[in-house]
Amino acid sequence: MAYDFDLYVIGAGSGGVRSARFAAGFGAKVAVAESRYLGGTCVNVGCVPKKLLVYGAHFAEDFEQSAGFGWTLGKADFDWATLIANKDREINRLNGIYRNLLVNSGVTLHEGHARLIDPHQVEINGQRYTARHILIATGGWPQIPDIPGREHAISSNEAFFLKELPKRILVVGGGYIAVEFAGIFHGLGADTKLLYRGELFLRGFDGAVRKHLQEELTKRGLDLQFNADIERIEKQADGSLKVTLKDGRELATDCVFYATGRRPMLDNLGLENTGVKLDKRGFIEVDEQYQSAEPSILAIGDVIGRVQLTPVALAEGMAVARRLFKPEQYRPVDYNMIPTAVFSLPNIGTVGLTEEQAREAGHKVQIFESRFRPMKLTLTECQERTLMKLVVDAATDKVLGCHMVGPDAGEIVQGLAIALKAGATKRDFDETIGVHPTAAEEFVTMRTPVAG
Ligand code: FAD
Ligand code: NDP
Repeated sequence: MAYDFDLYVIGAGSGGVRSARFAAGFGAKVAVAESRYLGGTCVNVGCVPKKLLVYGAHFAEDFEQSAGFGWTLGKADFDWATLIANKDREINRLNGIYRNLLVNSGVTLHEGHARLIDPHQVEINGQRYTARHILIATGGWPQIPDIPGREHAISSNEAFFLKELPKRILVVGGGYIAVEFAGIFHGLGADTKLLYRGELFLRGFDGAVRKHLQEELTKRGLDLQFNADIERIEKQADGSLKVTLKDGRELATDCVFYATGRRPMLDNLGLENTGVKLDKRGFIEVDEQYQSAEPSILAIGDVIGRVQLTPVALAEGMAVARRLFKPEQYRPVDYNMIPTAVFSLPNIGTVGLTEEQAREAGHKVQIFESRFRPMKLTLTECQERTLMKLVVDAATDKVLGCHMVGPDAGEIVQGLAIALKAGATKRDFDETIGVHPTAAEEFVTMRTPVAG
């Protein structure tokens, strides 16, 4: 049968664009459908605008610390509307770049909501198209628990477009988004509380990292409330919000921001017209080659709920393009040693196993840790401390994990990830000459284990 396209991609986000472009480059006839914004979550309401806001928030401490270096500044004044307008302009520019990338690589762009009609057919803007393969790359969507007053809460989608910086804000959740946005709002001057339902936020990160970040954020005056869960939210006559916690406490605020995970975006996708199956958590179930239970339909990125990170969606998109249209270049995605950063202030950077995971996996470990006040702060009042930690396998000397809390942790950990991926041992770290004076050199100068 002759199809309209070799590959029809639903979703022009991180994974979809990568897959479409490379498939077209390999000679396939490709279309991509996008209902909302080119570049997807990362470009429009994720990584990119988030990082711009983090930069914005960071200036607060730069101004404060500059006094120690002899600078006298007038009273610092922040204008949220300017930051958001400049951010929007940059995102518009990136949308245009994504459009050009697709068009210049020969991909047909369909702007509208795509719906599956059958295993080889998609409907968009009233038109139907057939394709040999269909790739679902529709990403995720914020998930807010169904509590009374939920309609008064916002998610990250809205946070990027608030008209004004709230005077008081409650950020709910203890994952990446909650921790990053609590830092943004606090840094920009909002009276910020972070509410997390468990004992300590950032479940799954190394225990020392979680504790260290808790201490650093507390030092900065961010109000961290753990074991706190919202029962209901009520709007008051003056427009403010009354938040009642499950323990009976009441909090007054101007904005409640939920960052409690993301669900797969499957709305009106027409999955019922195909044999695609979902896993227990509701994400699209795929095999190691991203094929769903329906042989002609594949899925990648957040919608399969493996690792919800842009570089992972990119790698999956590339793997699909190669498998379908350049099989001789196909390599499976390696999910080990994925480095990641939380752009809190200060940042977390991490790659490999946490101490807890290493012990649980049966490794006999040696732990190396360094805690220090960064050189840049020695001329300032700031008492912030950096944490660096190595988890080493005592039997093989292999470095199993690197963890950091401190300025530029994400930048530093990217390089370490290459070393870990190449199987570096602690001896390799020790024999590597440091770059002086940097914070990063601490990673090659830790000599005495703190625990074994
Ligand atoms: P997406 O990028 O979400 O793209 C899916 C696209 O499909 C969207 O454009 C959507 O409009 C479109 N779509 C959906 N349904 C349809 C349909 N039926 N028809 C047509 N189009 C449709 N990751 C990092 O690595 N680093 C970070 O710093 C980072 N920060 C983040 C901050 C926030 C606030 C959020 C929310 C996420 C962040 N992420 C970060 C995660 C990252 O954004 C995602 O992992 C990544 O965007 C997933 O890519 P994707 O291709 O799976 O989906
Ligand atoms: P996460 O899964 O990281 O965190 C969700 C948080 O919400 C957890 O602390 C969880 O608690 C809590 N939670 C879940 N359900 C409820 C509930 N019903 N009531 C109260 N709390 C609840 O999700 P995020 O929304 O922060 O981010 C989504 C994903 O996007 C991340 O996992 C990450 O993959 C990606 N991302 C990456 C970034 C980066 O690379 N820098 C930045 C932002 C997002 P508990 O731990 O107890 O389950």
